[in-house]
Amino acid sequence: MTDRYFEFTHSPFGKSISNLLGLPQPPKLERAESPWAVAPLDGQSVLLAAAPGSTAVAALLKSLSAMGASIRIAPDHGGLAVIKSAAQKAKIALASEPAADSGESASPCIVFDATGCEQPEDLRALYDLFHAHIARLSARGRVLVIGRIADAQTDVGARTCAAALRGFVKSLAKEVGKKGSTVNHIELESGAEAQLDAALRFLLTPHAAYVTGQTLTVSVGTGKTPTLPGSLHGKVAVVTGAARGIGASIAETLVREGAQVVGIDHPSQEGALGETLSRLGGHGMALDVTAADAGERIATEVAEKFGGIDIIVHNAGVTRDKMIRNMPPHFWDLVLDINLGSILRINERLLKSGLNEGARVVCISSIGGIAGNPGQTNYAATKAGIIGYVAGLAPTLAEQGGAINAIAPGYIETQMTAQMPVAPREVGRRLSSLSQGGLPQDIAEAVVFFASPAAAGINGSTLRVCGQNFVGA
Ligand code: NAP
Repeated sequence: MTDRYFEFTHSPFGKSISNLLGLPQPPKLERAESPWAVAPLDGQSVLLAAAPGSTAVAALLKSLSAMGASIRIAPDHGGLAVIKSAAQKAKIALASEPAADSGESASPCIVFDATGCEQPEDLRALYDLFHAHIARLSARGRVLVIGRIADAQTDVGARTCAAALRGFVKSLAKEVGKKGSTVNHIELESGAEAQLDAALRFLLTPHAAYVTGQTLTVSVGTGKTPTLPGSLHGKVAVVTGAARGIGASIAETLVREGAQVVGIDHPSQEGALGETLSRLGGHGMALDVTAADAGERIATEVAEKFGGIDIIVHNAGVTRDKMIRNMPPHFWDLVLDINLGSILRINERLLKSGLNEGARVVCISSIGGIAGNPGQTNYAATKAGIIGYVAGLAPTLAEQGGAINAIAPGYIETQMTAQMPVAPREVGRRLSSLSQGGLPQDIAEAVVFFASPAAAGINGSTLRVCGQNFVGA
């Protein structure tokens, strides 16, 4: 559905009116237009900084250089020694970030390694860097802060500092969102530095245009991983609810990355499903995911035609909103069965046979499951249930070299949200750091990232893709 306010504020007339009246102007976001590139930061510079004693610098230098970036440093910053020593070892050239009065552009990306923060005074290094440089970050800039996994720290000071980064990142994201810039946070397991590469390639590029204010946990995972570009070539992916909206975009983005797609949708959507899948050169299956034999039919049909499943995306979902006192029992049962029960049943069957080794499972949750909404007790229960489910099933998938994660979309422009009344629709769009709704592609990009074996360090997580919607933030 068209966001008329967004279009108005980007028209010459609307721009002058909104300037005159001081109305907010949602920024234009830069979204990916092509597959994951080998050198997505080619021709760009990244300002790299660190707290003294940080340990991810060598891995960051290696990945950022492989991504084509030239590395800049802030010459007067406290954590410089650790960067200089790692760069010298890796024979990577460093340049100074130009001074504000030099007339040269500032770096469009800032990456800060805060893994060395162990006492509150160590956090001062963050203030020093961002106080001096954030105002010059370009529109649609990217900031990434890397720290330790707070809950895994045994030292109280280290745990406190790791947790402090979450608040810092959320606040900084709210400060720069009006320029379309994003700020995200990686909590990195000790020893998982080699797994950073895929997360950098996602969070520092237009593939994550609508992800901001979020924390992603990167762990050691299954060890060796391929690099992100090309990692989905020839993979067989099943997507439910693929006829339209977010599901169709997930199918399209998987195809863009070289996967073969089997799209599933309700038999009532057979026509739309056929159109979507024939456009993508994929295979369509008209199937109600709540059917008792749904898992069996998916396993059998995909095995016959493609040999097995590498990726399954549980996207089909419905709403039937009513305050619980007025909610008929069939509204409860239908939403619980489609959004949650069917996922558990299908996966249970596929875990017996049908999934290839190293399979990736991605489930679509919602920020409604994190914050709750009046009239959505049924829907929110299912979407919160998914968050618990992926965390619970992660060890089982890990045993098979695979992973299961969830995406929690915020307000996304689809048929589902077009049915909302005007007031909540405008609130859903505007009350976020990026002050606009997301597009199905934003969810698809995150799903496809999680579907890659290159994201092996991420398992059992739920990532919000919501432009830092203030609901439940
Ligand atoms: P959508 O436009 O309504 O598409 C959902 C698709 O799933 C439809 O084609 C639908 O077919 C299909 N489906 C429903 N029940 C099914 C069943 N029993 N078996 C097979 N297919 C079935 O929704 P969307 O906005 O793209 O949402 C996709 C997912 O994202 C959902 O899980 C939703 O909860 C989640 N989400 C969306 C937003 C948002 O802002 N749009 C926000 C948070 C989360 P029918 O027409 O037959 O129902």
